[in-house]
Amino acid sequence: MKKIIPYGTQSITDDDINAVINVLKSDFLTQGPMVNLFEEDIKSYCGAKYAIASNSATSSLHLACKALEVGAGDIVWTSANTFAASSNCALYCGASVDFVDINPSTFNICPQKLEEKLSYAKKNKLLPKVVIPVHMCGQPCDMKKIFELSEIYDFKIIEDASHAIGASFNQKKIGSCEFSDITVLSFHPVKIITTGEGGICLTNSKNYAKKIELLRSHGITRDNSLMESNIDGPWYYEQIDLGFNYRMTDIHAALGSSQLRRIDSFISKRHEIAEKYDNCFQDLPLQTPYQLKNAYSSYHLYVIKLDIENIKISHLNFFQNLKEQGIGVNLHYIPVYLHPYYRKLGFKEGYCLESEKYYKSAVSIPIYPALEDSDQEFVIEAVKKSLTY
Ligand SMILES: *Cc1c(COP(=O)(O)O)cnc(C)c1O
Repeated sequence: MKKIIPYGTQSITDDDINAVINVLKSDFLTQGPMVNLFEEDIKSYCGAKYAIASNSATSSLHLACKALEVGAGDIVWTSANTFAASSNCALYCGASVDFVDINPSTFNICPQKLEEKLSYAKKNKLLPKVVIPVHMCGQPCDMKKIFELSEIYDFKIIEDASHAIGASFNQKKIGSCEFSDITVLSFHPVKIITTGEGGICLTNSKNYAKKIELLRSHGITRDNSLMESNIDGPWYYEQIDLGFNYRMTDIHAALGSSQLRRIDSFISKRHEIAEKYDNCFQDLPLQTPYQLKNAYSSYHLYVIKLDIENIKISHLNFFQNLKEQGIGVNLHYIPVYLHPYYRKLGFKEGYCLESEKYYKSAVSIPIYPALEDSDQEFVIEAVKKSLTY
């Protein structure tokens, strides 16, 4: 079989494997001590007061929306250039969603367009209750600017930091929630660290943390102070809200804590790879990832944007050409509103022009800590040849 170089993949060591085996040999596979420990590890790494883990970032985004009381009649905004989970979470709550176009350099939600859209929405009484900026590729959004807008236009902020554990903005780790109400991380295997499947909400609000914790596990509590009726006996618990089973298992949490120990080496290896790409692609008709001055990317993805007007090969053929050579290229993302489900909600082509332009020229090429030098060189040569033949 031909070797495939994926665009991203996990790095698993014997320590990770042993951490999982130890849980399997212990008394608790779920609802034991490991989830708590993982939450402690993540919150001290990111610098937030509270961390509540769940079985995916998608679940965590849903819980975050619930904590902010997103419901019918509310509007939630996110970037047009993201994974559908960033907006699905609002639809789960019965809210409606809208999309903000990206900045063509950062690929992130454009603060100027956000400001214009807010000012227009205010006149029409269609302001969002929550805005969900996405740190695309691990490159932080301009959170200070978005936070300032939230104070003027009175909306809450959930950072979708699925790509961005290990990134920082203004010298502070993403996840510190300095400029947001809640931050969500993903631990899917292609992301920076993995638990297999998993996600987490970070917040500095005790109130939000309590709500998220309650809803993660059916809306059921064993905390006497929260109960509404008399306690019938030691078996007693109460369901006081309509929640879900979004719990993370101890098996997953143990893997996450073990992975987190190596995060610094993961991120620095990703930067090394990115720097090499940057250097080798300097003179090619493509745009390499732009880096904000006051931010540090986690480089979850390395996206090149082809200079379509100045090359002979089409975007599709470039993609297929690399794919045929065993390079697992990908495209992050199809503008969310162009999916059939969203079109049925009324969104049409032409809604966010920069996101659509991006979609017609972007390609994610391999970046992950275990990417070998020779494989990276193979990718670089393949990109060069495709653009200059
Ligand atoms: C991966 C991802 C998610 C969903 O994460 P899961 O843990 O797979 O549920 C949400 N948003 C973005 C931007 C992502 O990349």
